[in-house]
Amino acid sequence: MLNEENSQKIGTLYIVATPIGNYDDLSQRAIATLSQVDLIAAEDTRHTGKLLSHFGIKAKTFALHDHNEKQKAQQIIDQLNQGLDIALVSDAGTPLISDPGYAVVNLCREQGAHVTPIPGACAAITAVCCSGLPTDRFQFVGFTPAKSKARQEFFIDAVNSGITSIMYESTHRIMASLDDLAEALGDDQQVVFAKELTKTFETFFNGSVSELKAFLTNDPTKQRGEIVLMLPGKPKLIDDVPPEARKMLALLESEMPMKKACGIVADYFGMKKNALYKTIIDEKG
Ligand code: SAM
Repeated sequence: MLNEENSQKIGTLYIVATPIGNYDDLSQRAIATLSQVDLIAAEDTRHTGKLLSHFGIKAKTFALHDHNEKQKAQQIIDQLNQGLDIALVSDAGTPLISDPGYAVVNLCREQGAHVTPIPGACAAITAVCCSGLPTDRFQFVGFTPAKSKARQEFFIDAVNSGITSIMYESTHRIMASLDDLAEALGDDQQVVFAKELTKTFETFFNGSVSELKAFLTNDPTKQRGEIVLMLPGKPKLIDDVPPEARKMLALLESEMPMKKACGIVADYFGMKKNALYKTIIDEKG
C-alpha cells in the first residue's frame, strides 16, 4: 500500500479469482488481498460490490471490462508504478478466462510490472475434474461460436484434437448447439454437460447427444443457468498398421472379441490399444 515511508515502492497487480456460485469458495488469501489493495478493477462494479459487502470489505472499485480495458491498461500500470496495489476481478471465477484482463496483464508483462495470481474457482477446471473424461491432457476452447456452421466446425475440431475439450455454453443456445453437435458428429457422440456448478441446482449429465437432448427437453428448467460442455477427444487412428500385426489380429480375431485381440496385438507391437481398435473398427466401417 502507498504511504509516505514506502512511496518508492512499486505496486502489484493481483489477479484474484472469485467464486462461481458459492461465496464460501472465496479463499482467505483473496479476502485478505481484496481488503488490503488500494483499488479493485472489476468487470462490473455493482456485481463485485455485492461480493465485497458480503465479506465486509470496503474498497475503491473501478470498471474494467472488454470495452475499456485497452484504454485502461496503461493507466493501471502508471498507478502500479506510483506504488498502488491493484486487484483485478471478474464477475465470477478466474479473470481472463473468457473474461476481461488479458490486455492489462499482457501490457504489464511487456513493461515489467509485477503481476501475481490469487487462484481460485474456474468453471472449466471445476467441471472437467468431475466429468469422468480424461484429464491427463485437455484443452479449453472458450465459448461455442454463435453461428451454426462455425459451431459445427468447432465441435469437429474439438473432437479431432484427440484430447478432452472443455467449452462454455450459453443457456439461450444450448439446444441449438446440441442440434449442431448431432449434425456434425452424430446422435451417438458422447458429451458431458455440467451446469450451475457449486450452486444448489448443480447438475452433471454424461451420455450421448440424443440422451442429453431428451434429458433437457423433458425438464426445460435444466436448460437454464450456467453451462459447461465437454467432449472426449477421438482417439487418433494409426496410419500404417504393420502387416505382421494384421496377420496376428486375423488369427486372434476368430478366437476372441476384436477389442481383446487388439489389446494383445497392440501390447506386442508397442501401439496404443484404443488407437488400434478404433483404426480396425474404422476400416471395417
Ligand atoms: N472466468 C470464468 C471462469 O473462471 O470460469 C468464466 C466467465 S464466462 C464469462 C461465464 C461462463 O462460464 C458461463 O456462461 C458458463 O459457461 C461458465 N460458468 C461460470 N460459472 C459457472 C457455473 N457455476 N457452472 C457452470 N458453468 C459456469
